[in-house]
Order: sequence, then structure tokens, then C-alpha cells
Amino acid sequence: RLPIIVGILLLTFTTVSLVFLYRNLVQQRQIAVIKNEFISNMTHELKTPISTVTVAVEALRHFGALDDRERAKEYLDISALELQRLSLLVDKVLKLSLFENRQIELKPERIDLPALAAEVMASMKLSLEKAGAVAQLTCSGEGLFVLADRMHLGSVISNLLDNAIKYSRERPMLSIHLAREGQDVRISVADNGIGIPAAYREKIFEKFFRVPSGDHHNIKGYGLGLSYVHHIITRHEGHITVESKEGRGSTFTIQLPAA
Ligand code: ADP
Repeated sequence: RLPIIVGILLLTFTTVSLVFLYRNLVQQRQIAVIKNEFISNMTHELKTPISTVTVAVEALRHFGALDDRERAKEYLDISALELQRLSLLVDKVLKLSLFENRQIELKPERIDLPALAAEVMASMKLSLEKAGAVAQLTCSGEGLFVLADRMHLGSVISNLLDNAIKYSRERPMLSIHLAREGQDVRISVADNGIGIPAAYREKIFEKFFRVPSGDHHNIKGYGLGLSYVHHIITRHEGHITVESKEGRGSTFTIQLPAA
């Protein structure tokens, strides 16, 4: 009987190993596809501003645009805008590689959350206006303080607001609600946008992941923002969840220990 049992155990072990190996291979393949897509998007995104600025500079240097004040100003304005886009993009990639290597250094300080949220909202005034968005900030309860890195927590909130604008429809309605919940502080960022299909609600926090279906595909992105958000919140001993209704909107909720 012993050889039979050993045989069965060996067979089970081999089958399980093969299944794991296969799953691993499939996963690696998916990651390779996602990375290739990311690199080709990124290359395109880098090339566009570079060639626009090159054309503008050439026009100024060789094609008389410098003599026409109005044209010169127009070319300089375009260049400044494209350079700003380029710098934002490089900043994003840089942040990604830093947190890949776990090198993000956090400088915790006591933060007045309502003040920080108001600051972030004010800094996004232009993009909110451009999108025709209405945004409101509400708070309930006292003691809305956390111990956190100001710059990174600000980036987390602006990433969520950015997405709320990006994945919305005609008139985006956004809200940030801050509340005290026992020992924690809750930050909820809600939108009335396109929503996230249930099957992908966990996956959106993974690096490079973008919802492959519906309107999501027509909206530009790299699938990096939420993995950064997740990383930063986890490093602050907090957690983030999402609730969503397709076609109706999403609410991202962050829970952080109160200070
Ligand atoms: P990106 O927006 O650059 O693709 P993110 O990591 O910020 O990357 O988001 C990952 C994916 O999650 C997005 O591609 C999108 O499909 C989905 N998503 C994020 N925020 C929202 C939102 N507010 N509403 C609907 N879908 C969202």
C-alpha cells in the first residue's frame, strides 16, 4: 500500500506544481503585455511634447517667427505648456521608480486634514474649471488630524481628484468628505463618473492595471496613480477601499489613524 500512497502523493505534488507553474507563466505574460503597452504609451507621450517644442524653436530660429511678436509669443506659450507636461510626466515616472525601490522617504508631521484638502482643491482650480466640474469639501466631527507626510498625502488626494475628473462624464460633481471614526480619520473622495466594473475593483490598485473595458479605454493613463496611492496609504498604516456603481460613480475611502 505504501508505494501506492507515495505514488498518489507524488502525482498530486506534480499536478499542483504544474498548475502553479502554468499560472505563473500566464501572469508573467500578462505583465509583459501590460509593460509593453505602458512603454509604447509613454514613448508616444514623451515624443509629442518634444516634437512640438522642436518645431516651435525652429520656427523662432529660422523662419522669422521671432520678428512677429504675436507669433513669437504664441510659440513660446505653446512651448511652456508642453514643457510643463513633460516635466509632470517625468515626475510621475521618477516617483514610480522611487517607490519601486522603496526609496520614498516619508517625513511625518501633524497635519490638519481640512486645511490640506482645501489646499489641494485650490491647487486644482484650473483643471476643475477646465472640466466644468463642481467640487465641494465637507467635514464632520472634530480632531481631523493625522500624522503623515504632507507632500505625499497631498499627492494622494490630488491623484484621487484627478481620476474623479478624468473618469467622469459631462458635468463632473466631485466631493471630499472628512470624518472622524473612532481612532481613525476617514477621507472619502466621490465622483459621479463612469464607475468601475465589480470584477476590476481590487485590481485597479495594482501597478500598470487599467480597466480594459468600456469608456475607460478611451481615457489616457498609465495605471500608476492608484498603485502609488495604495503604497503611500499602506506606508502610513492606513487602508483604501473603493465602492462603485457602473455608470453612476465611485467613492474611494481612505482610513488613517488619527493623530
Ligand atoms: P490611470 O488613471 O493613469 O490609468 P490609475 O492607477 O490612477 O491609473 O487608475 C487605474 C484604473 O482605475 C484606471 O485606468 C481606471 O480604469 C480606474 N479608475 C481609477 N479611478 C477611477 C474613477 N474615479 N472612476 C472610474 N474608474 C477609475
